[in-house]
Amino acid sequence: MGDFSEHVLFGMLSASVAFYLVSDFVNLTGAETVMAGTMLFIGSVLPDIDHKNSYVHRAAKATLSISTGIFLALLAPFGVKDRFLLGMAGFTAVYIGFSMLKMKHRGFTHSILFAFTVTMLVAAFGLYSASTLAPAVAVMLGISSHLILDGEFKLR
Ligand SMILES: [Zn+2]
Repeated sequence: MGDFSEHVLFGMLSASVAFYLVSDFVNLTGAETVMAGTMLFIGSVLPDIDHKNSYVHRAAKATLSISTGIFLALLAPFGVKDRFLLGMAGFTAVYIGFSMLKMKHRGFTHSILFAFTVTMLVAAFGLYSASTLAPAVAVMLGISSHLILDGEFKLR
């Protein structure tokens, strides 16, 4: 299996090759290039979210629990004190919940179905927000490069 930086490097390598192959036909705007680059990076490391000790898993856990806490503390329709308590409770619940998730080592997130699902979500988001498919193609490349490096090609 590859570690974090190997996956990022291999993702960038495959993207450079892909970019080189299509550069005659495709012209990306600056914004598209930034979005595609970001999604490529995310895609190339995202499957390892199911490894308990991976950087992605820990980063996702922290981001998700902290944003839940902040979201509740700022937006819940209660008084200040209650919102603060709710925010703390939300943070704790998400953090613990995420830790308890029993994800199979190289399970669903290392499958073609996962790559497909994420690509479709990013495609919908990209088309809706910026009328572009560049981020979806990038995330697909990123996840594919991850699966190739890991040697996983199961369907689901
Ligand atoms: Zn992996």
